[in-house]
Amino acid sequence: MIIDSHCHLHDAAFADVREAVRTAVACGVWGIVAVGCDPGTNARTLEVAEVVPKAVWPALGFHPDRPQLDDEELDRVEAQVAEHHAGLVAIGEIGLPWYSLADAADAADRMVTGRARLERLLALAARFDLAVILHAPHGAAQSAFEALRRHGIERAVFHWHKAPADVTHAIVDAGYLVSVTPEVVYRDRDRALVAAVPLGSLLVETDAPWPYRGEFDGLPSGPWLASRVVEEVAKLKQLPVEDVTFEVSSNACRLFELPWR
Ligand SMILES: [Zn+2]
Repeated sequence: MIIDSHCHLHDAAFADVREAVRTAVACGVWGIVAVGCDPGTNARTLEVAEVVPKAVWPALGFHPDRPQLDDEELDRVEAQVAEHHAGLVAIGEIGLPWYSLADAADAADRMVTGRARLERLLALAARFDLAVILHAPHGAAQSAFEALRRHGIERAVFHWHKAPADVTHAIVDAGYLVSVTPEVVYRDRDRALVAAVPLGSLLVETDAPWPYRGEFDGLPSGPWLASRVVEEVAKLKQLPVEDVTFEVSSNACRLFELPWR
């Protein structure tokens, strides 16, 4: 059985979360790590996890690429994590800004702010011994990697990972995980990543309800797509789907210290 390691179940697309989980289970996806982005989506994530506690494991986060979020909201997220840490499997998603810096006149300032915020959040992860789900794409990956090391964080995943090959190599070498989305079905960059990384360092995720292209064009995006990701990873690794399912699910159990491990 498969675990979707990163899904936005707080989103309005999953208003009927029981139905979303039923569909996922019917596709072989029986566990979902639900991530939050800010105080509001964190609160909704906690609600969702209470509705279907057997299938949903909550993580609370502060999205680094949302420039509208301010320090007051970060204070609130810190308070949420402190209050609920015993019921969480991770802090996430957190990380460093990248996409929002592209056209920003104050990109350098925002990067400084983003780094300071990540420091606070990693200190919190270390304090409560929580796994870390990182949003740190491309040029942000190296700095996030260094920040993890500085804080002595041992359990972390670089979600929807994309980075230069040498940075990926260092990340995997240090024992951190990287995850791939349904893009792996049709995008060479993600396929090359799967080929380059050992199975023991891989997770699958959907980042749903993110809309995907290729064969997914026009189809509803949800945690059920994680089964298609596993199938494609199996093809790329030339291994039986059952073996890959077992491996990536074991990786998720190890990372998030899931209770049934
Ligand atoms: Zn996400």
